[in-house]
Amino acid sequence: MQYRIDKKSGNKLSVLGFGCMRFPGALGRIDMRKTEELVMTAIAGGMNYFDTAYIYPGSEEALGTILGKNKVRDKVYIATKLPLIATKSSEDFEKFFNKSLERLRTDYIDYYLLHMLTDTDQWQRLKALGIEDWIAGKKKSGQIRQIGFSYHGKQDDFLRIVDDYPWEFCQIQYNYSDENFQAGVTGLRKAAEKMPVVIMEPLLGGRLADALPKDAVGIFKKARPDLSPAAWGLNWVWNQNEVSLLLSGMSNMAQLEENMRLADKALPGMLAEGDKDVYRQVLEVINKAYRIRCTGCNYCMPCPKGVNIPGCFAGYNATFSIGYVAGMQQFITSTGVTSEKTGSPGHCVKCGKCESHCPQHLPIIKNLEIVRKKMEPLWFRAGIAIGRKFLGRGRGEKNSV
Ligand code: SF4
Ligand code: SF4
Repeated sequence: MQYRIDKKSGNKLSVLGFGCMRFPGALGRIDMRKTEELVMTAIAGGMNYFDTAYIYPGSEEALGTILGKNKVRDKVYIATKLPLIATKSSEDFEKFFNKSLERLRTDYIDYYLLHMLTDTDQWQRLKALGIEDWIAGKKKSGQIRQIGFSYHGKQDDFLRIVDDYPWEFCQIQYNYSDENFQAGVTGLRKAAEKMPVVIMEPLLGGRLADALPKDAVGIFKKARPDLSPAAWGLNWVWNQNEVSLLLSGMSNMAQLEENMRLADKALPGMLAEGDKDVYRQVLEVINKAYRIRCTGCNYCMPCPKGVNIPGCFAGYNATFSIGYVAGMQQFITSTGVTSEKTGSPGHCVKCGKCESHCPQHLPIIKNLEIVRKKMEPLWFRAGIAIGRKFLGRGRGEKNSV
């Protein structure tokens, strides 16, 4: 495992951090046996940075339980986050922070983030609520060791926020397809002059790994048959000196082991000159294939009408990356569009609840309409309606396909 020094605290951080949003499990329940195996293997392999959040379902409890049971709390740095989306008053700062401590079974947080700052207005609102005094109190008491923020917004606002407070770290979305998106490379370099920068979404929710279009996989394989698309994605991030560490949401042992092997050699300047052209060719394929930039993070869920928003977008994108029939199969499986209780885009009532939660700022309502037109053409909807009638189901359903 390679390490890079956090210049604010002097901490030696593993270049690979564990993103705890995607612990293994199903139907909203974390598989504790598998998760413990992963977390303890990661620690044994030298990983020391674990990133969770108040709003990741079950994640703080799972991490706290595992670290407590194995008595390894003091071997790791815990990063967790204040859920700005639910913070309405200054009392909420304390309430959410104490709940995180309780779930994590600890009395301090090593790296505490304001979760998902999106613009300067939001930062000003927090200042008006007294966030600076609250942070000062927590720093004085030692309950917060390092204070930072995670960011999903425009670059100019990011740069203003970086300059407006003595932050001790920040976390941005960054990967080879997002070099000029959100904070981007300019934001990374400016922030890194002052503080450690943690990278999230290095593989864009898997879109740059297992979900990569076949043609793009072929380009990578031709250039270096020994490297997977995930390895290409992570190496691109680690290659940059300004990056302190990257977070990867590993949900099985094969992913963890591969990432740890890569992290053994993760040095700045590790890429060869000719590699740049390989990334450029891959990006051309990706940009043609991924029409909707959904990372599958689920922040927009649940939809009150049951629309499977990320499932709709993944199926739609798949029609461009792996073909119409395979994409359609994926869409049908993930939305259950042929069943009575479907997550079809046709159920959207345009309430707008989802859009403000999307870190990628996607126009979800408009995109669902695009998906509906392509994935549920008239002949398809007619076929489903006839099928339901024949089976005597679906009576009284409004707006369903
Ligand atoms: S706008 Fe549509 S998809 Fe979004 S939450 Fe409302 S009903 Fe669901
Ligand atoms: S639509 Fe936005 S919030 Fe929802 S899963 Fe995709 S990226 Fe995440």
